[in-house]
Amino acid sequence: MQYISTRGSAPVLGFGEAMMTGLARDGGLYVPETVPVMSHADIAALAGLAYEEVAFRVMRPYLGGFFGDDEFRGLIDKAYSGFHHAARAPLVQLASNHFLLELFHGPTLAFKDFAMQLIGQMMQAALAKSGERITIVGATSGDTGSAAMEAFRGLANVDVFILFPQGRVSDVQRRQMTTPSEANCHALALDGDFDDAQARVKDMFNDFAFRDGVRLAGVNSINWARVLAQVVYYFYAATALGAPHRAVSFTVPTGNFGDIFAGYIARRMGLPIDRLVIATNQNDILDRALRVGDYRTNGVKPSISPSMDIQVSSNFERALFDAYGRDGKAIAALMDDLKAGGFHISQGALETLRATFASGRCSEDETLATIASALQTTGELLCPHSAVGVKVAEDHLGATPMITLATAHPAKFPDAVERATGIRPALPPHMADLFERPERMTRVPNDLAALEALVRERIAS
Ligand SMILES: *Cc1c(COP(=O)(O)O)cnc(C)c1O
Repeated sequence: MQYISTRGSAPVLGFGEAMMTGLARDGGLYVPETVPVMSHADIAALAGLAYEEVAFRVMRPYLGGFFGDDEFRGLIDKAYSGFHHAARAPLVQLASNHFLLELFHGPTLAFKDFAMQLIGQMMQAALAKSGERITIVGATSGDTGSAAMEAFRGLANVDVFILFPQGRVSDVQRRQMTTPSEANCHALALDGDFDDAQARVKDMFNDFAFRDGVRLAGVNSINWARVLAQVVYYFYAATALGAPHRAVSFTVPTGNFGDIFAGYIARRMGLPIDRLVIATNQNDILDRALRVGDYRTNGVKPSISPSMDIQVSSNFERALFDAYGRDGKAIAALMDDLKAGGFHISQGALETLRATFASGRCSEDETLATIASALQTTGELLCPHSAVGVKVAEDHLGATPMITLATAHPAKFPDAVERATGIRPALPPHMADLFERPERMTRVPNDLAALEALVRERIAS
């Protein structure tokens, strides 16, 4: 299995290199050269298996032998052993044809744990073999950073730096990043928004002298291995509801387009997914792009679902790459236009995207109203991101069973939940003392040279 860049001019890599590299050297994202298709029988055989076994069968074809089968099974088992639910990703029924996939039972209470825990295990195993040391730098709107700190804290061959937008993450999210006491964890509070943080991380990757000097590795959802780990729960949930014998649809609360892109890969692998519905908050660039064919940024408006306060959705580039017939040059040109504000999606590409994706947007008031109504009609307490998904899903219900992804635990966003319901959700027992742990973080300017100097200095000491 080989991986190619969406911009067509970076080296072709195997799985291990693609995982360690993150962003391609031409600024693009790695995608598999071909997507392996699972037969009807192979998909049918997944029903009723443990999550770990589904994970092994779905991901194995992508590894190209990078890990042996027993070794890979061991890494998967370790990755999910820290989850606090035996099903890992339990399905809950909300209405006759609407289901919720709870992806928040991992150690940091958001779906990011599914990929980050596994990538932590895989990177550690790879580094133990090569004896190398790497520097991970990631940008976060809150949940990626906490999941990364949790997955990499204390690992011998890794330093992890997380850039988060100062003042724009919830207290729980911030504390999950600032309270790990291990010396290899570095929480950086950036003067800027999430798009600034993501742009500075991309700048570091595009500064090859810096990148090679500190052996930079990325764990943002630009990393193919993260997308891959998320493909698994689409199979797990769909087969629980009768796939491949009947189709299902998914609605996905979307920011950086990583989670929903994993659903797109599952569909290309042969899983019968009718619709993949993009759910956005008031930062609705993706909804606008799908509806009017114009992909144009207009500034981030902070919302009560902060993990989706994103304008430039990195992984959308991967979907565009396919929609433009895998023409890397065309994608490189579009991404240059995006830097200048935006671009029109060609009619052909737009039709291709609309054949798979639908979209909808949820306002702040609708988010609060949905948290309240879901509690009243089902007893389920939703986090604001999951509520965005549920609202948009409700607008797209039909004959096909709908599965909405619940991306975080309500206790991660207690202010919004309390505003909507009067109930302040408690943190689960394993992090009940979060607010008593001492915090450690560094304020940093939105400036590439200053950031690079700080990283160099920290890893030297
Ligand atoms: C990251 C995140 C999202 C958005 O996921 P993407 O892969 O960036 O689209 C939605 N909800 C929560 C709680 C998140 O942490």
